[in-house]
Amino acid sequence: MTIAYELRCRECGKAYGLQPLSICDECFSPLEVVFDLEYARTRFTREAISQGPLNMWRYRALLPVADSYEPQTPAGLTPLLKAPRLAERIGARNLYIKNDAVCMPTLSFKDRVVAVALANAQAFGFDTVGCSSTGNLANAVAAQAARLGLKTFILVPADLEPAKILNTQVYGATLVRVEGNYDHVNRLCSQIADRYHWGFVNVNLRPYYAEGSKTVGYEIAEQLGWRLPDNIVCPMAGGSLITKIRKAFSELIALGLVEDKPVRFFGAQATGCSPISTAVKNGTDVIEPQRPNTIARSLAIGNPADGPYASRAIRASGGWAEDVSDVEIVSAIQELAETEGIFTETAGGVTTAVTARLYAHGRIQPDELTVTCVTGNGLKTTDCLQGAYEQHRAIRPRLTDFENFVEEHNAASQGFTLAQESYVR
Ligand SMILES: *Cc1c(COP(=O)(O)O)cnc(C)c1O
Ligand SMILES: [Zn+2]
Repeated sequence: MTIAYELRCRECGKAYGLQPLSICDECFSPLEVVFDLEYARTRFTREAISQGPLNMWRYRALLPVADSYEPQTPAGLTPLLKAPRLAERIGARNLYIKNDAVCMPTLSFKDRVVAVALANAQAFGFDTVGCSSTGNLANAVAAQAARLGLKTFILVPADLEPAKILNTQVYGATLVRVEGNYDHVNRLCSQIADRYHWGFVNVNLRPYYAEGSKTVGYEIAEQLGWRLPDNIVCPMAGGSLITKIRKAFSELIALGLVEDKPVRFFGAQATGCSPISTAVKNGTDVIEPQRPNTIARSLAIGNPADGPYASRAIRASGGWAEDVSDVEIVSAIQELAETEGIFTETAGGVTTAVTARLYAHGRIQPDELTVTCVTGNGLKTTDCLQGAYEQHRAIRPRLTDFENFVEEHNAASQGFTLAQESYVR
C-alpha cells in the first residue's frame, strides 16, 4: 500500500482508493477501510495517544481522515465506569459500563461515527449530507452538519420517538418522515444518494462512518490501562459497532499496544427485532430479515447490513447473542438508573437486560472482566416510561404535611426489585 488507508472489498479484496462508495461493483459485497498498519506503527503508539486531545481524535492515526484535517467535534472519550451495584444484582463481580449515554454532542455513540463520516463528506466536496436513521444518527448528523455549515436531509420512519424528531429539527435539518420502517427508509436513501450526489453518512460514506465505532474499542482498552477485557456486551442494530470494536482490538494487538488475548463478543437485541441474535442462536451467519416490532427503535433494523459479519464475529470469538422483551427492556432501564445512576434509552435497556441474562445463564462467569456498552441516553425515549411513576399530589409547605407524606410513602413502598431470576427465561 502506498497510502495510509484505502477502501477494499471485504470479500474479493478489490481496491477502490478513496471515494464515496460502500458496495463492491464486482461482487456486491460491502467495502471497508483498510489501514497500512506498518505505516501506522510509528504514529499509533501509547505515547502519541496520551499526548492527543481528550476526545476520540486522540486515535486519529487509525481513523480515515487526512493529516491536515482539523476536527470540529470533540466527540468520544466517555467514562468507563465500574458497576458494582448493578453487578451485585445480576451476579457479576467484575463489571464495567462504557457510558456513551453522555457522548457529546448529542448523547449517543453515533456522534463518533458521524464525526468521521462528515470529515469525509467535506473531503469529497459534498455540500449536502444526510442519513437514514432510527433516531440517534439523525440527531448526530443534524448537530454536526450545522456546526460545519452543511445542508442536511434526514429520512426517518414516520413513527419515531418525538424527542428524536425534535432533536433533529432544532438544528435546522430538513426532516423527511417516511411511511414504513427503517429498511424502507434506507432503500430510499440509496436511491437519493445516487440521484442527487449527496453524502449519506450510512450509505455512500458508510465505510468511513463505520471506522468511527472503533474508538469505543480503543477507549475501553486505554481506560483499562491498555488491557483487553474478557467479554464485551454490545447492542446491535445494523451490526456495525460490535464488529468494529473487534477490529479495534485486533489493531491494538497487531501494533503491540495491548497483550494478545481472546475477547468474547456478546450481541444484544430486542426480541421484536432480533435477526442477528436469531442467526447466532441457529449457528449461522445467514440473516433472515424481520419486520421490527419493539420499543427499542434505535435497534430496529430488520435487515442489518453488517448482520452476517456481526454473527461471524460473535461466533468466532466464542461469544453468544441474546434478545429480550420490551417489558424486560423497561425494567432494565429502571434497574440501571437505580443501581448506577445512568439513565439510558431503550437500546441500553436491551444491553443491560441481555447482560443480566448472560450471567444468569452462566454464559459469562462472575469474575471475568466484562464491559457492557450503554450507547444512548434515556432522555430521548422517555415515552417508554410513561405512567411508570405515580405523581403524588403536592403538599403544602408545612412540616406536618411532610411528616404525613413520609408516613404514607413508607406504608406504600413495598417496592419490588428485579432479582436475577427474572432474567432466566
Ligand atoms: C445505532 C445504534 C446502535 C447500534 O449500531 P450498529 O452499529 O448499527 O449495530 C446501538 N445503540 C444505539 C443507541 C444506536 O443508536
Ligand atoms: Zn468484491
